[in-house]
Amino acid sequence: MPDVIALLPDHVANQIAAGEVVQRPASVVKELLENAIDAQASTIQLIIHDAGKQRIQVVDNGVGMSPTDARLAFERHATSKIKQADDLFALHTKGFRGEALASIAAVAQVELQTKRVDDELATKIDMAASEIADQSFVVGPDGTSMVVTNLFYNVPARRNFLKSNTVEMRHIIDEFHRVALAHPSIGFQLIQGKTELFDLPSATLKRRILHIFGSKLEDKLVPVDEETPVANIRGFVLKPEAARRTRGMQFFFVNDRFVKSSFMHHAIKTAFDGLLVDGSHPGYFLAIDLDPQTIDINIHPTKTEVKFENEQSLFAILRSTIKHSLGIFQVAPTLDFEHNPNLDVPYAQNDQVVNRPQIDVDRNFNPFKDTAIPSGGRTNSAQWEALYQEVGSTASDAPELFNGTEELPTATEAKMFQIMQRYIVSATGNALLLIDQERAHQRVLYESFLANITHSNAASQQLLFPLTLSLTAMQKANFATYLPFLKEVGFDFGGSLSEDSIPDDVSIIGVPSQCDQSKAIHVFEDLFLTLESDQITEAFSPSDLLAKSLCRSLSIKSGQSLQDPEQAALVNNLFACKDTLVSPFNRKIFVSLTKEELQKKFS
Ligand code: ADP
Ligand code: MG
Repeated sequence: MPDVIALLPDHVANQIAAGEVVQRPASVVKELLENAIDAQASTIQLIIHDAGKQRIQVVDNGVGMSPTDARLAFERHATSKIKQADDLFALHTKGFRGEALASIAAVAQVELQTKRVDDELATKIDMAASEIADQSFVVGPDGTSMVVTNLFYNVPARRNFLKSNTVEMRHIIDEFHRVALAHPSIGFQLIQGKTELFDLPSATLKRRILHIFGSKLEDKLVPVDEETPVANIRGFVLKPEAARRTRGMQFFFVNDRFVKSSFMHHAIKTAFDGLLVDGSHPGYFLAIDLDPQTIDINIHPTKTEVKFENEQSLFAILRSTIKHSLGIFQVAPTLDFEHNPNLDVPYAQNDQVVNRPQIDVDRNFNPFKDTAIPSGGRTNSAQWEALYQEVGSTASDAPELFNGTEELPTATEAKMFQIMQRYIVSATGNALLLIDQERAHQRVLYESFLANITHSNAASQQLLFPLTLSLTAMQKANFATYLPFLKEVGFDFGGSLSEDSIPDDVSIIGVPSQCDQSKAIHVFEDLFLTLESDQITEAFSPSDLLAKSLCRSLSIKSGQSLQDPEQAALVNNLFACKDTLVSPFNRKIFVSLTKEELQKKFS
């Protein structure tokens, strides 16, 4: 038998390594941003085309590279950051494995231009298929620019595996947030095509958070600051009232590196015990600094996981520090010496009376008369007819509802009442129905918004006093994308807005008929949150996403008690929907118990 083992050629080894380091455009973004930080840049620019699938560029004003280093940088295990294994435990840089650039060059074309302060000319290198295709001297600025194009051009399986641009862009922005929050003193810019999404000046952590997530967070941040022999902890947690149902704002940094640690997340969560409503997640921006000797970050190629030597004591410290901060905050308002009035957003709506949301009743709807169904509507589902067949016969002489002037939505004679402030119980001749009020109303609103968009027939209510919506750069970009759909569901805005000129403050002058004006700002906050979180993957299209976000924000909630007419209207509107079985989020809307099933229970 001949020997069979052979060493893999470099370009093959690099491609295999790339599989671990480069999973998607966002991984390239992370590695390039980290290299720029390691090069001591004070400003870093990230420019993205086609969600990074086509082009990713990072420009920094850091130390640059010599012509020889520029060539070496693309070799595997080529790093300037460690010389021996021991150095791993005294690390103060992001990188050290020396494989990022080699990996990226194995799966994309790379163009590097770099210059040190003392050099006359910049070095330019073109990499193709892991080889140097061209090297020259050019005139250029100090620092380094890396351009990565056609990611995965030679790995079709990977390329096909990439998600939609929205999803890939979401990952890039997440990565950008993490790096920018870990390094508030460095200026960052993110440009998507021709749109500037973020321009973050050098700032304190607090200012950085507000620049990214909006100044309305200002009075929601509780400072955390603790020095112990094991670790120093600083940063902010969000007040419990600001906790959200999405996990959007959870940032944990160890020695200026974003890391995922379910153990530490748990420590933070337990500090909030008893303070959060079920299903909501605490928000936090916490940086812990400790001796690099006491952690191991080299357990994963992308270095987002970490092993702590003093795990148990860190858990306890973290938990008690946060509890302490939350405690202080509850007795006294937080003292804030860096308050900058320029970042304050006037919220003119604070003093307005919050009205109870009205149920949108389709007064023409009669499930037993096809002719009474408005255009675009549909006959109701068979199960409704079956369940209410007895009621149908009496529907015409129904009692009066609402102002006493309108005709009663039919089938309300079926007796109904609310239990547990959550379910509507309806008894008919044939069965017992338990309807989840929140999910039912979500379904009703969702279909009405979708119909508004499809038929462009939304009814808008003009506001006597316009509302002001203040937007961050990121929100402006999302707002621009959704502007046509927002108008279609019935929002109306002041000034001449177009998709490429959105001001910082948008004036809302009309809202959809389904939306109470006191809820309008809240609706936008929810929408932006949805767009900035991973939930976006659930929706098929922008209009679907908008309808889902709106119905979730505006629906009647569990725990809300409903008057009889409201219950009746809700049930009627539900059974006029195209789909009555599940909510827009695929949750069961009602359960029924037939006569037979009941009898069985009594046998
Ligand atoms: P690592 O960061 O693990 O050292 P990389 O493959 O990311 O490995 O980079 C290899 C080397 O190239 C770095 O150690 C550094 O010396 C150099 N380098 C990469 N990017 C830059 C940059 N933006 N500015 C200066 N030097 C850089
Ligand atoms: Mg690196």
